[in-house]
Amino acid sequence: MTRVHRVVRPWWTCAIDGLPWPCVEARQLLREMFVDDRSVLQRHMAQLMAVAENEIGFLDRATLYKRFVAWTLSNGQRCTVCGSLRHAVIAGLPPRLVPCNDVRGLVDVVPCQCGRTVE
Ligand SMILES: [Zn+2]
Ligand SMILES: [Zn+2]
Repeated sequence: MTRVHRVVRPWWTCAIDGLPWPCVEARQLLREMFVDDRSVLQRHMAQLMAVAENEIGFLDRATLYKRFVAWTLSNGQRCTVCGSLRHAVIAGLPPRLVPCNDVRGLVDVVPCQCGRTVE
């Protein structure tokens, strides 16, 4: 087997170089795997980010977003909500993990089913 830059959970580090996953090589590999469908890659990474948030726990969301999702955005891709070039709202990413202030603003006023306000 070749040495694959795969993730080691629950630490979310690279099995080869020990760097925070996805490392540069892992990102390159993922880009090649999903070269035909960037939006699938974005959803994939958004879901991983949600899992990683639970397992890592101590990273702030902006850091997580940059590490998992920001690099998957296409050049010139804009947030469909606020128009920012720095982030985009990805299907499958829980709204509380979306770095868009406009989306977060909406989430803050939506009461959750348990009766308490989300965050
Ligand atoms: Zn690596
Ligand atoms: Zn936005």
